[in-house]
Amino acid sequence: MLTITDAIQNGLKFSAPKNYYLAAKFTPMAFNPANAIQDLQYFGEFGGVNPSISDSSTYTFLAAKTMFDTFEGNADGCYLYSRHSTPSNLYLAGALAAMENTEAALVTASGMGAICPVFLHLCQAGDHVVSSRTIYGGTYAFLKNFAPKFQLKTDFVDITNLEQVEAAITPQTKILYCETVSNPLMEIADIAALSVIAKRHDLKLVVDNTFSPLSVAPANLGADIVIHSLTKFINGSSDTVAGVLCTTRELVDDMCNVTDGAAMLLGSTLDSLRAASIMKNLRTLHVRMPQHSKNALYFAQQFEADGIRTLYPGLKSHKSHELYQTMMHPDYGYGGMLAIDVQTKANASALMEAMQERNVGYLAVSLGFYRTLFSASGSSTSSEIPEEEQISMGLSPGLIRLSVGLDCDAKASYSKIKEALKAVGLIN
Ligand code: PLP
Repeated sequence: MLTITDAIQNGLKFSAPKNYYLAAKFTPMAFNPANAIQDLQYFGEFGGVNPSISDSSTYTFLAAKTMFDTFEGNADGCYLYSRHSTPSNLYLAGALAAMENTEAALVTASGMGAICPVFLHLCQAGDHVVSSRTIYGGTYAFLKNFAPKFQLKTDFVDITNLEQVEAAITPQTKILYCETVSNPLMEIADIAALSVIAKRHDLKLVVDNTFSPLSVAPANLGADIVIHSLTKFINGSSDTVAGVLCTTRELVDDMCNVTDGAAMLLGSTLDSLRAASIMKNLRTLHVRMPQHSKNALYFAQQFEADGIRTLYPGLKSHKSHELYQTMMHPDYGYGGMLAIDVQTKANASALMEAMQERNVGYLAVSLGFYRTLFSASGSSTSSEIPEEEQISMGLSPGLIRLSVGLDCDAKASYSKIKEALKAVGLIN
């Protein structure tokens, strides 16, 4: 581990060594992702407690040969051009790799900027993907409408039905894709079981863990690549769009290869200023997640008690409640996301407007903010999924997804929700 003195003495040349985040490997049981983040020591150029932000798009060299070696990837600790890599991005990537207990990570300009290069890097024309049918609408649209232009085909399955998953695999399948907790239906992917299937067929298991940071560590359960939209809980202040993929050192290096790496060539690079601000917010994630989870559990219990159909893995009525308990870290709870079903789009619109009028939170897409955010998924973040497919997967037009905030008094907040439910005639 570098000391502050080492860092200062290294002056301008201090930078994150390439493998500095190959931290101790944890066994799944002992693994606490928040400790893994906090155990990393980063210093600013002048001994600052926050790492310095690299505010340059290009870097100078004393010797032309070092520039050549850096371009070839053979000069550890040197930087060439900020689309390739920056110290700030490496610091954030290191912390996220530690959090997900993977060897390495790559931060990107958005969640989609992490997701799409993974498919385009691991697959070629003629290949096939098996994906959960309940995934974020943007990912669904990429696989359904965009990827076929490059002869990459996807079969969408019920990810909770392991026989259906395995039956969809063909000799051309390269990727098995799912979300730990699905957007917006809150289905739980049995990552350990899916990983057995993936290994049996030599597939990469790619898991989007955006809804469940800290709560679930998919790599510990056998996922090969773990993705987050950092835009959500990890950043937590709804001021930034960013993403990350966490995986092996080899795959990150491969995806960043200047000759044929999809992450490098598609150019979804995160800006260093944003990387630095996300890094600061990441440090409070372990304080925020239990509060999101506590409030969401309370809201879910109250909605259910009021007779509203509620989807939340913390409820005993959730079909994967017990499975989720075996997957999650108890300190961080069942997560901040829940969904309620008020049957029709008209009901959903009326209720959301009534909740916003009563200052429950905001009628807005996205998630992970300190205030509660709510949207009707079928006509917003899942609108890319055709209506008949929404119906067949159980996505009702009256489904409202709530990202529950950090409210200090969840009881007071729910009493406002209850007033809204009464005002629009959904309860008496
Ligand atoms: N994955 C999930 C589960 C999401 O909800 C989203 C966005 O809502 C994304 C990925 C895409 O992330 P971004 O908007 O940062 O590209």
